[in-house]
Amino acid sequence: MSLPIAGVTGAGSGIGAAIARMLGKRGFHVIVTDIDLMAAQKVASEIANAEALQLDVSKPDACNALVASIVEKHQRLDVWVSNAGISKMQRFVDISPSDLARNFEINTYGVFYCGQAAAKAMIKLGTPGRIVNTASMAAKQGRVPFLADYVASKFAVLGLTQAMAFELAPHGIRVNSVCPGFVATPMQTRELAWEAELRGTSSESVKEMWIKDTPLGRLETPEDVAKVVGFLVSDDAEFLTGESISVNGGAYMD
Ligand code: NAP
Repeated sequence: MSLPIAGVTGAGSGIGAAIARMLGKRGFHVIVTDIDLMAAQKVASEIANAEALQLDVSKPDACNALVASIVEKHQRLDVWVSNAGISKMQRFVDISPSDLARNFEINTYGVFYCGQAAAKAMIKLGTPGRIVNTASMAAKQGRVPFLADYVASKFAVLGLTQAMAFELAPHGIRVNSVCPGFVATPMQTRELAWEAELRGTSSESVKEMWIKDTPLGRLETPEDVAKVVGFLVSDDAEFLTGESISVNGGAYMD
């Protein structure tokens, strides 16, 4: 029998790469996608059963075409993880309309476009599917400095997750979100530098502040997030849909 197929966006780096590796270890054939094809190829080369494809999630036609090509080649699609996201730290009063639009285009519309393409394919195939969206701790609380556009785009992901879960449940498709905290990735390295500059301090002291804000006492790893995604796509979560699971070491509890 053919391996189950899982697609992951923004999988050339950080959390997405860890999710792709975790799915590979759990017996999936992984479609590693990223806006940066070379980054996706590098991650795919570390996974036993994987292939790399270029995808800019802010382009709806590209999302539809990519999912169609997966289904044409493999005749199945079991899991889709909409993980790609961007951030840029600045004060609310300084955020330009184009920065706001780019944030939503990737963090919110990208989740919508990919989820819609994946859901259409899963419905047509008539097999049960699982979709996971990477949201954020900043999808549940706005008490986050210098990320107003990001916060808004991630709150939208939680609403979308619930709406998708509700409409797709009759088709046997479960949809959930994962909400990470302070995860050590290239995105975090950029955020440490921005926040340090905005506060007039060093990246090291911002990092210490984030660790102090985390009851479990360390920065989160991409693998911490990937393990929860692994649970959400497994049969252990078979009666779980429309949820947004916090995985943040206690940095925000709701
Ligand atoms: P990352 O290391 O920057 O990885 C994100 C990947 O997405 C990069 O490879 C990036 O490519 C790619 N990407 C950017 N724009 C894209 C687009 N339009 N289409 C497809 N791929 C695109 O970030 P990360 O920390 O792993 O973040 C992954 C997800 O977790 C994001 O949704 C983020 O908001 C969320 N998250 C992160 C944290 C954290 O602390 N790190 C916390 C909560 C939530 P380029 O590098 O070429 O831009």
